[in-house]
Amino acid sequence: MSSRCAVGIDLGGTNLRWAVVDGSGARLYQARIERPRDQTEVLDRIRAAVEDCKSRYPSVQGAGIAVPGIITPDGVTSNNLGWQGVRLDEELKDLGLPFRVLNDMAAGALGELHFGRARGFGSVIFITVSTGIGAGIILDGEVYRGANGMAGEVGHTVVDLNGLLCGCGRRGCWEMIASGTAHRRRVREAFDSGTWPNLTVEPTPSDVTLRARQGDRAARALILRTARYVGIGVSNLANLYDPEAFIFTGGFARNNWDIIDEYLEREVRDQAFSQNVRLLLTELGDDAGIVGAAAGVLARG
Ligand SMILES: [Zn+2]
Repeated sequence: MSSRCAVGIDLGGTNLRWAVVDGSGARLYQARIERPRDQTEVLDRIRAAVEDCKSRYPSVQGAGIAVPGIITPDGVTSNNLGWQGVRLDEELKDLGLPFRVLNDMAAGALGELHFGRARGFGSVIFITVSTGIGAGIILDGEVYRGANGMAGEVGHTVVDLNGLLCGCGRRGCWEMIASGTAHRRRVREAFDSGTWPNLTVEPTPSDVTLRARQGDRAARALILRTARYVGIGVSNLANLYDPEAFIFTGGFARNNWDIIDEYLEREVRDQAFSQNVRLLLTELGDDAGIVGAAAGVLARG
């Protein structure tokens, strides 16, 4: 993949980011704007971003875009963006470049596979533990999309029949107990029940992380409790897919990795059949989607 380059675009809930990525994964040029709310304006901004990259690097051979949604032949559907069946490929065909649309987690997985922590692996699961939980699944070197583009919705696998009601309509989805949102809820409950009598305002999850590093046992216990719930779902996925590694991203995982990594590994070894699966932290961080979107184009050559 050397000496070639492609445009990688990450259309997130908050920002629209883009970069020119070369065949070694290096970002030659990078920019971002706040994502416009209006769909037409988003499309205009994406066109402008690609034109911008083409003018700087005339050799760009295509553009990949990572979107937080489900991609089917009928288009992109995304709750985050408020999109229903938007035909990105049709809308952007006037750019005159090969264009590939990927789910953001699938893109992140590809980024880590080609240029990040998952280099050298064949089967990996890229997993975010943040507001919700989602995954990008790579099996034998290929993104696994599923029959309807819905593979990787791992946050909505039920782990507790009598659990909390989820936004998807079912009870006890994994992300209802193991996401950063669930973690924040338990921090609030701990604060409300007087865990930290000296505190007058509710600590943020970042405060709790800091306190745990400083030896606050209640803070550490809260973080490990969330890690335990993360471990339950990861063990399920390990038994389903038998990947070589899980690559973690998302606020909860990234902010607490030094606290949770060994504990999580023990949990998964205790529960999963595979005793070889590796648990690793993202190498590309916020750039995984952008780099992966470009990698998806570069890999097709
Ligand atoms: Zn759900």
